[in-house]
Amino acid sequence: MQAKDLSETVCRVCGRDDGSLLWDRHGVPQYVICDCCGIESGLGDDQLSKVRENRGHWVAQGAPWDVPKNRPAGWDVLRQLSAVPAEWR
Ligand SMILES: [Zn+2]
Repeated sequence: MQAKDLSETVCRVCGRDDGSLLWDRHGVPQYVICDCCGIESGLGDDQLSKVRENRGHWVAQGAPWDVPKNRPAGWDVLRQLSAVPAEWR
């Protein structure tokens, strides 16, 4: 039997998905810094309480992009947040 694929490309904190592998298929963090919320996978998103705290902090600041040039035109923070996986809300 094949092990369940645990790979994740959707940021647990902000819902951004640019295709970068944040957690690999074995559930190992890749320590990738999200270009939207600036949170690093494996550091700022390994516990639900931390995910919520970082998200709240980020939103409270006005949801600034860590790499502003990658922000798409017409970007909608609420729409993106709706992409956060259910277990990380
Ligand atoms: Zn993010």
